[in-house]
Amino acid sequence: MPITLERGDITRSDADAIVNAANGSLLGGGGVDGAIHRAAGPGLLAECRGLGGCATGEAKLTGGHALPARFVIHTVGPVWRGGSDGEAELLASCHRRSIELAAEHGCASIAFPAISTGVYGYPVDRAAVVAVRAARAALERHPTVLDARFVLFDDRAFAAFERALE
Ligand code: ADP
Repeated sequence: MPITLERGDITRSDADAIVNAANGSLLGGGGVDGAIHRAAGPGLLAECRGLGGCATGEAKLTGGHALPARFVIHTVGPVWRGGSDGEAELLASCHRRSIELAAEHGCASIAFPAISTGVYGYPVDRAAVVAVRAARAALERHPTVLDARFVLFDDRAFAAFERALE
């Protein structure tokens, strides 16, 4: 089963790459972004300063610094604006681009948080369906990435991803 679910804190994941739900500046923020920067240490922010930000739906890779993961893939999810502003395609693109980068850098495993479902307001049930479908399709195209895990911080997100996997 190439897609699995875990409950917990993504900063502790031993996946080769963990995905950060970043904002476009790549200069840190709250939520999972803040947690990743705290756990990785100041070297991560220093590296991010050199990246020049990231467009919504795109992804950029850095080292993992003090994290167990070798790499952090920073992707910028869409802000939810009601669903008819291209949100689903942009969220799918975050997953696709992240898995492409993981494959380019020889990662066998990648861990995703529930991108856009916090401050960015994407309804978690809908986000889970989009995320699972996009990850599945990208894994098929990049078979060297053997597993993708969704690391869900709370019960509600975990339940939503469970339903989406069915
Ligand atoms: P966004 O701005 O993309 O909405 P957030 O960081 O606000 O990003 O939230 C994305 C998801 O990450 C939320 O479901 C939140 O509960 C979750 N989250 C927050 N901290 C962590 C963490 N340490 N590990 C995994 N998920 C986390």
